[in-house]
Amino acid sequence: MFYKATIAAFSLCLLWACSSNQTQDIETLQKSADFAMVLHGGAGTILKENLSEAQEKAYTDALNTALDIGSEILKNGGTSMDAVTKTIIHLENSPLFNAGKGAVFTHSGTNELDASIMRGSDLEAGAVGGIKTIKNPILAAQAVLENSEHVFMAGEGADKFSQEQGLEIAPPEYFRTERRWNSLQKILEQEKTMGAAFEPFQDSKYGTVGVVALDKAGNIVAGTSTGGMTNKKYNRIGDSPVIGAGTYADNKTCGVSCTGHGEYFIRYAVAHDVSAMMAYKGVTLQEAADHIINKKLKKAGGSGGLVALDKDGNIAMPFNTPGMYRGYVRGEERFIGIYK
Ligand code: ASP
Repeated sequence: MFYKATIAAFSLCLLWACSSNQTQDIETLQKSADFAMVLHGGAGTILKENLSEAQEKAYTDALNTALDIGSEILKNGGTSMDAVTKTIIHLENSPLFNAGKGAVFTHSGTNELDASIMRGSDLEAGAVGGIKTIKNPILAAQAVLENSEHVFMAGEGADKFSQEQGLEIAPPEYFRTERRWNSLQKILEQEKTMGAAFEPFQDSKYGTVGVVALDKAGNIVAGTSTGGMTNKKYNRIGDSPVIGAGTYADNKTCGVSCTGHGEYFIRYAVAHDVSAMMAYKGVTLQEAADHIINKKLKKAGGSGGLVALDKDGNIAMPFNTPGMYRGYVRGEERFIGIYK
């Protein structure tokens, strides 16, 4: 009798264990069907009245294609690393954005490119600052992450390393667009005529690009690429290639890519601050991102915004400027925005 009862109890336990395991499997499957990607094409004084219908369409089309590229990879089970790099390559190749082709000019009339990428699964990162010869700077950042013992390379050395990695080289004229050249001329003129009243980065439209993706395996990757700020001097490097300032990713919390006045983003360690607020205070992604951009940074006078997503595919895109080119995909859901 006792023996039979024990067997019955044991079988019941086994049944319960199996069924609860099954529930877990279903939940895992449902969760692993999740993927999301969020991107920006820069923040700044982007106002509807200043953008023609054709310009608005050109930006919307470029952002839509970028979302197509990334979501196709993620939907088919590709990695967030692949989605971020391929999407950023598209944005770097577009002359509309301040990254790769179409990058802004330095004071001396050159293009100096910054990029970074971070992997949330193991906190590995790669970055390059002030490179001049690589067609797609995000690939240089990826090469630093994957094929070197360093995290951050700058200047001629970073160009040399990237060339040794076999990355495509582009001549200086490749990066040049008339629009960015004219912006530099305008600022140089103002600098000359306004004297002490000249505010170097007032009213800037930044135009950096950044992408954060969450793949079906639950891995977050964040990347950012830029030409920096028009009229930058003395090999200035901004926040975009600085891990923790312009870019950050941690599978446990979130991935972040920033855009705006880089000096503020470096001093306030903005990208890492979002992750830290979530980790230490237990607040949501939305609360952390909003607080940092719209309260902390705004109060300090730092203009810009960020895009971020967390491990559950929640998305935040706060900015304290009139506009930010932005968009996201989450499963079948898609959004694109430009103005506030
Ligand atoms: N954050 C970039 C920099 O300061 C500029 C931008 O976001 O467009 O270099």
